[in-house]
Amino acid sequence: MSIVDGAHTRMTDAEPSRSELLTVRNLTKHYRVGGNIFGRGAKTVRAVDDVSFTIGRGETLGLVGESGCGKSTLGRSLLRLVPIEGGRIEFEGTDTAKLKGEELRQMRKHMQAVFQNPLGSLDPRMTVGATVGEPLTQFGLPRRDVRQRVEQLFDMVGLDHAKIDAYPRHLSGGQRQRVGIARAIGLDPRLIVADEAVSALDVSVQAQIINLLVRLQRELELSYLFISHDLAVVRHISHRVGVMYLGRIVEIADSETLFATPAHPYTRALLDSAQTPDPSQRREQIMLSGDLPSPTNVPSGCRFRTRCPLAQQICAEIEPPLREIRPAQRAACHFPLTDITSANKPQETEPRA
Ligand code: ADP
Ligand code: MG
Repeated sequence: MSIVDGAHTRMTDAEPSRSELLTVRNLTKHYRVGGNIFGRGAKTVRAVDDVSFTIGRGETLGLVGESGCGKSTLGRSLLRLVPIEGGRIEFEGTDTAKLKGEELRQMRKHMQAVFQNPLGSLDPRMTVGATVGEPLTQFGLPRRDVRQRVEQLFDMVGLDHAKIDAYPRHLSGGQRQRVGIARAIGLDPRLIVADEAVSALDVSVQAQIINLLVRLQRELELSYLFISHDLAVVRHISHRVGVMYLGRIVEIADSETLFATPAHPYTRALLDSAQTPDPSQRREQIMLSGDLPSPTNVPSGCRFRTRCPLAQQICAEIEPPLREIRPAQRAACHFPLTDITSANKPQETEPRA
């Protein structure tokens, strides 16, 4: 898969030149937790805090970051599965953040989800064929046509028709995830939010499901928000990748650029921690020290500064905005890693401090 990018676009912005399907602006989702019955003493969890990005048609945007950084909340907010505080979610030109009732229901046809645990999201008392057929019936497909469409969907995801009348417990993990995908594509959506969709599967099954997602993307011109803590998987499937830290996107770039030359120290630390230590590689690694601060109490200035080896005074005072570092790469850092040596090469020079 390659991204066809106009040179002029690459020079000015990290966004894709393909036409945009989804444009998210200043999306914010906070949770109130704790406190007494009057709300006194309650704290605000800044799970998603002023996040902006786009997803192009037929594009996969990967989303990575440590557990608790807000990835799932971002996915659920896009799908309007949780109420949001503010921001715009423009889907094919309509701000879906404002939709209610029937309009919201209709919009749901176009944005679907595939979650980590297919057994948890499949009804154990329903045959998997009925699970795949349910949204079709809900959206008005005549009953006599449902069986035929379900058979077609089973073909598309590589499941035998004999499985249509099986129950979830009779299927393997990979087969269940295929059912989840068949249900998600049944209404011909434009966008699928895949939240840790392959994380619970064995590596060989993961590869099969990823290949299936890639094939469906091509055949159906689907866009994906592909959420995963697994960098190798995200690298494989994504055209672009966003990195989240404490509710913010701190870096977003072409997949190739991000993995070859991460600009944010946090991205680099994530990549370093995912690498098997190789004694022949002598370059300085950025280690993540300390725990993730609580999203109820985010540090001033740059949120990453309390764990950042490059932090200076300014980092505590001014929050760095996302800005262009290289073509098709933006990072929110006062001291981005801009040396030309690849992060994967040994003998790297010290990052600029
Ligand atoms: P990720 O998917 O990256 O692991 P989440 O989006 O699940 O992160 O969580 C982001 C933050 O929001 C975490 O601090 C989490 O504890 C908090 N959070 C998630 N869901 C809720 C909820 N329903 N109520 C309160 N806090 C929540
Ligand atoms: Mg999650």
